[in-house]
Amino acid sequence: MANLLLTTRCVRSCPYCFAKNEMAESDPSDILSWENVIYVADFLVRSNDHHIALLGGEPTLHPQFVDMTLYLLERGFHVTVFTSGIMSDERLEQLGSYLSTFPPERIQFVCNLNNPDQTPAPKGETEKVFRFLTALGPWTTPGFNIYRTDFSLDFIFDYIARFGLQGQVRLGLSSPIANQDNLYIKKEDMKKVIDRLYGYRNRFEKLRARPSLDCGFPLCYFTDEQLGWFYRMAGPMNFGCGPAIDIKPNMDVYSCFPLSNIHKRSLFEFNSIQEVVAFYLTLHDRIRQDSPGVFEECAACIFRNEGRCAGGGVCHSIEASCP
Ligand code: SF4
Ligand code: SF4
Repeated sequence: MANLLLTTRCVRSCPYCFAKNEMAESDPSDILSWENVIYVADFLVRSNDHHIALLGGEPTLHPQFVDMTLYLLERGFHVTVFTSGIMSDERLEQLGSYLSTFPPERIQFVCNLNNPDQTPAPKGETEKVFRFLTALGPWTTPGFNIYRTDFSLDFIFDYIARFGLQGQVRLGLSSPIANQDNLYIKKEDMKKVIDRLYGYRNRFEKLRARPSLDCGFPLCYFTDEQLGWFYRMAGPMNFGCGPAIDIKPNMDVYSCFPLSNIHKRSLFEFNSIQEVVAFYLTLHDRIRQDSPGVFEECAACIFRNEGRCAGGGVCHSIEASCP
């Protein structure tokens, strides 16, 4: 699955934002053209890849967001939209009228939720998110980026019950961007984060919600008991590190947001998504030769040698080597 940025404009300014480089460097008027949507759709079909994620910035800000999403659905793609849920009433009405005619198996929203108590939002923002969740709850998976060790998930459990959200919670470990000042979880705090997540097990179980861990979690920081519980709730876990493959409106491509300022290429240089993935896997391997993982132990770790843990995120290794 590739991630296609419809626009680099956003409606929020999250303290952990790992897309800061791209948001800052891009011309806000740079939005995806129809020509490039069609190019990407053809490119993915040719690659036998039928799942696409739409993101931004805030993808629903694109004036043709609904038409482009319908086009991709009509071409048979499973579409995942990463959104803040913050949009105009008119745009929300369009989503409700057109996109919700497709079942959640074809289109899904991942709503990136901030805790209103811990990440203060401008007046009216939470109400907008509520309007989105009221309209599209059954199509929506809650997403949460962890950027502080005292994070609270209580509000997400409340939203799941109140708005009938899908019973999976995407949990991202906020990542550092080299030479940027975003907030993220330092490697020495990862254990605290895992323990705190595990502390929510009763609430996950009560709602039958599945904790879905994103990239960059280190396998060795989980106890066997924790590993067993996460496996029982959500199945096999991924301790890998991308590449995610993000494609910008101008067809620049890179491994993932935190690595966007190294080895950015153009999608036009590649023949298939598999070629793009192979290119960035080689790049990750090269970085790993100098810095095998986030911990000293990673270099000789059997889990790393067997490919069962990437040794945390490459983004953490790069950040550590920055002045
Ligand atoms: S590779 Fe590194 S982070 Fe992963 S389990 Fe081994 S020591 Fe831990
Ligand atoms: S470098 Fe790896 S861990 Fe960090 S954001 Fe990218 S894919 Fe995730």
